[in-house]
Amino acid sequence: MKKLLLAAALMLAAATARAEDNVVKVNAPPESAVAGETAPAKASTIDCADTLGVSRVAEVDTAGGGEYGEQYPPKPLLEKGEVVLTFDDGPHPEFTRQILDALAAQCTKATFFHVGRMLKEFPDVARQVQAEGHTVGTHTHTHRNLGGASMGQAEQQIESAINIAEATLPNGVAPFFRFPYLSDPQRVRDYLAKRNIAVFGIDVDSFDWRWRKPEKVMHNVLSGLDKTGRGIILFHDIHGSTAKAIPALLAELKARGYKVVHLVPKSRIETVAVAEPTAAPAPRRRARRHRRSKR
Ligand SMILES: [Zn+2]
Repeated sequence: MKKLLLAAALMLAAATARAEDNVVKVNAPPESAVAGETAPAKASTIDCADTLGVSRVAEVDTAGGGEYGEQYPPKPLLEKGEVVLTFDDGPHPEFTRQILDALAAQCTKATFFHVGRMLKEFPDVARQVQAEGHTVGTHTHTHRNLGGASMGQAEQQIESAINIAEATLPNGVAPFFRFPYLSDPQRVRDYLAKRNIAVFGIDVDSFDWRWRKPEKVMHNVLSGLDKTGRGIILFHDIHGSTAKAIPALLAELKARGYKVVHLVPKSRIETVAVAEPTAAPAPRRRARRHRRSKR
C-alpha cells in the first residue's frame, strides 16, 4: 500500500511538473507576476505519457471576483475540447480518497469545493487533497442555500468555511467559491466580488446527485460534453457511485481527446473573522430550471 501511495505521489509530481511548463493566466494582464498555489514540482521518472494528464494550468486572477460557467456572462477560460473537473460537498473519508486515487492514476488534477463542516470533520482528507496537488475552494459552511439567507447569514456561511479551510490546509485555500444548489443571489455575488473571490458555476452536470449509477454519470457527462464541447464539469465526492464512475470516465475523456485544465489561483485569500454558524438549517430549494437539485 505504501509503495502504491509513493508511486501515486511521484506520478502526480510528474504531472504537475509537465503542466507547469504551460501556465496560462486567466483574467489577468499578460505581464502580471506568477504566484501559483500548485504543489511544488519534483523531478520524477514516472511516465504519465499514456494518461489523461493536465494539458495546462490556468492561473485565475480573482481580483474583483470573476464568474465562470454557463449561468454567467461568457468569460474566457476554456478552449474547445478543454474541461475542468470539479468535486463538491466533501471531503469524504472514503469516496474522496477513491477519487484521488483515480485522478492520480491518470496524472490529472481537479478542483474540490469543500464544505466547512466536512472540512472540520475530515481535515486529513482535505490535507491529502491539497498534498496531491489539487485545488481546494469552498462551498459554504453547512451547504446552506444562500438564496434563502440574510446577508449576515451568507457572510457567516462563506467566511466560516474559508476560515476553517485556511486553518486546515498548509498552503491555504483558494479564493474559489461555488454556490450550493447554484443558488446565487446578486447581493452575495457582489459581496464575493468585493472579497476578490471567484465564483465557479458549471457547464456540464454529471447529475451524480440524482442518479447514483456509475454508467449514468458517465453518460450524462459525455452527452453534456457532446453539446458544449468544453466546460466545467460538476461531480460530488460524497457518493460511492461517483467514485466508481471516475476511473472509466477519465479514460473515456482521454479516448475522446478532451484536455484537462487545472485551475489555480493567482493570489492567496484574505480571511475575515466570523462566528461559526451553529445550526444546519434545512435547505430551501428553488424551483429554477436546471437548479432544482441537491447540488
Ligand atoms: Zn453542493
